[in-house]
Amino acid sequence: MSVGSSYNQSVRILVQGIVQGVGFRPFVYRMAKQHHIKGTVCNTPAGVVIEAQGIRCASFINALRTNLPPRARIDSMSISDVPDSIQYDNFEILESFIGEGSVAIPLDCALCPACEAEMDDPLNRRYRYPFINCTDCGPRYTIIQIPPYDRVRTSMKHFTMCPECEAEYSDPNSRRYHAEPISCPQCGPKLKMIDNKANVIEGDPLDLAVKMLKEGKIIALKGLGGFHLMCDATSDAAVSELRRRKHRNAKPLAVMFRSLEDLETYTLISEDERNHIAGAIKPIVIVRAKQGTNISKYIAPTIDRLGVFLPYTPLHRLLFEHIDFPLVATSANVSDEPIIVRTDEIVSRLGNVVDAVLTHDRTIVNALDDSVVQIAQARVVMLRMGRGFAPRTFPLMKMLNESVLAVGAHQKSAIALGVKQNMVLSGHIGDLGSVEAEDYFDRTIQTFKRFYECEPTVIASDLHPNYSSTQYAVATKREHVTLQHHYAHILACMAEYTLNEKVLGFAFDGTGYGDDGTLWGGEVMIADTQGYTRIGFLKPFTLLGGDKAIKEPRRIALSLLFESYSLEEVLELNSPTTEAFLPHEIRTLHHMWLKKINAPLSSSMGRLFDAVASLGGFIQTLDYEGQGGMIMESFVDPSITEPFEFTLLNGVIDLSEMVKQIIVLTAKADVKRIIASRFIATVEAIMCRFANLHPELPIVIGGGVFQNHALMSRLYRGFDSNRFYAQQQTPINDGSIALGQLYYVIHNTKEKNER
Ligand SMILES: [Zn+2]
Ligand SMILES: [Zn+2]
Repeated sequence: MSVGSSYNQSVRILVQGIVQGVGFRPFVYRMAKQHHIKGTVCNTPAGVVIEAQGIRCASFINALRTNLPPRARIDSMSISDVPDSIQYDNFEILESFIGEGSVAIPLDCALCPACEAEMDDPLNRRYRYPFINCTDCGPRYTIIQIPPYDRVRTSMKHFTMCPECEAEYSDPNSRRYHAEPISCPQCGPKLKMIDNKANVIEGDPLDLAVKMLKEGKIIALKGLGGFHLMCDATSDAAVSELRRRKHRNAKPLAVMFRSLEDLETYTLISEDERNHIAGAIKPIVIVRAKQGTNISKYIAPTIDRLGVFLPYTPLHRLLFEHIDFPLVATSANVSDEPIIVRTDEIVSRLGNVVDAVLTHDRTIVNALDDSVVQIAQARVVMLRMGRGFAPRTFPLMKMLNESVLAVGAHQKSAIALGVKQNMVLSGHIGDLGSVEAEDYFDRTIQTFKRFYECEPTVIASDLHPNYSSTQYAVATKREHVTLQHHYAHILACMAEYTLNEKVLGFAFDGTGYGDDGTLWGGEVMIADTQGYTRIGFLKPFTLLGGDKAIKEPRRIALSLLFESYSLEEVLELNSPTTEAFLPHEIRTLHHMWLKKINAPLSSSMGRLFDAVASLGGFIQTLDYEGQGGMIMESFVDPSITEPFEFTLLNGVIDLSEMVKQIIVLTAKADVKRIIASRFIATVEAIMCRFANLHPELPIVIGGGVFQNHALMSRLYRGFDSNRFYAQQQTPINDGSIALGQLYYVIHNTKEKNER
């Protein structure tokens, strides 16, 4: 069709992308008025459909493309002529149309500046209102029961709008025109403070919360996608008490700051980090902490980085009106279980952790954790995809005839759905293995099936037979595709960038089930969407004691020493690793190593990081996964670029020379900086070696090891950006395994789909 002509035209425009719940329809309305366009705009499950009539259709369409509201994103716009359309008298926004199809689910947004200004204005009717929102901000995904996104299908349906809110909601010129969660102090949700036995505490809930936080108490506070546990982040007593009650030893806690200015007095942040911290989503950003501030030493023991964020709901904002210290704000859950969303569950499961609960009566329909990102060389490295980013929709080039469900891995569980013309990746579910996590996993699948109106006929899972996600897939009795874990990492990155060609993939990860039944995790592969060839891997080493070795890096390091030295030599070594054992323990472990008793082999790069953390004297036993790498990270000096020695023979990466070099180094004092820096340089050098062998191939990476900030910064600096692909929109760790699994199935059920 042509839209350049000057006569009266009738066109139908289908817009897909993030176009619901972001003020898109009012925006279309305003643009239509400006361009004297008549017709309608309507939310449908397939996207936003616009019928437009007028002589300025072309400039109207152009305006739609160029002046988008801040949170909207257009993925595609298809325009067709409607020659014999009815004649419209004006431009109208129609009620949402429910039918077949699929659409990007609108995402939750942080409090916007306009609403913030209103809640600060004593003359505004929403002055200090904890649930203020507009078409640019507020809850979305977390309150939707079923799309399309209209108030009647959200948990706000229980609140009847007062006449004033109703007037704003129906006025196309209002900032709150069709702001589905619109409310005010007269008609909206109410705050409530209860004690840890669910008894209501009399008084102003906000004042009570402020008072308790000032007294060093621990409270649970209801946010957008779940509850936070909060306490004074500058109080050693409060933070260590939270750790004691939660049985959480050293895993870092996120900290919320009153303002960007406050945050900057505690951290050293770059311009890019600042933009993400203060942007429209306000995720947790991992940044470098300043030394010598009054932040409690128990927040992030032994590492120099801090997960920080700013208040993102009006309620957070109000809390900080009378609090001038940063607050711990960590997801309310039991160890690595999913975030808790219900007040009664906080009381029953965390009643022994919290002193009180600040809650309200707007139901959280879909749980969602805070997103966690870090910034390396101006690029986002997503560590946890949640609020503001999830669920993430990727449009496909073709229409799928059947829906596909991918169930991901075991840790950092997330699911993905291939439906119609989209791939959708869920937010972070948590580590499977507990009843709660598996319930949430199951609930997410049900929610996705309901949201996208589909019943998947193909299920993809990890190769690992013991993952509960794999067992779920088996139990469905549907067509079941299993996929090697590290290949799925590479595919996840390919999915994000829509790559189809052959790539050189580096999957550096914790342990995952290999094709040969051993534990992989330091894999180099040439891969495409059809399959892969493993062209390189770390020379397998022994995890002495199996699972125990994952908690105790010294056991892995010791096995590396056994590879390079005799038992007598090991006993004589001056190494932090051997010093972490008694001589008879070393003899016992040597016996186990020789006889291969409870000593599985692994090629995992993540475990190698742990081993180096032991050899270099950084840490000998871990409190949480990845701790070794995180501690080393703080010692990395980018000016030290000399790698350790390694050999590459028939694809086997042998690091025994490195082990010896580290032993020599540790005889000297103050070498942690050198060991950490040279080790990171070694990982890069290994990658370069393979990259040079296959100069024609794009480089794709994936796996938990790339969460290491020092490594990612190096890789972004070192590799040609035209050739180097790393995920930015989806988690670089196991959180996107499901996306990789899905991408594979979509490319390998062609015949069926084209039938
Ligand atoms: Zn707003
Ligand atoms: Zn109202």
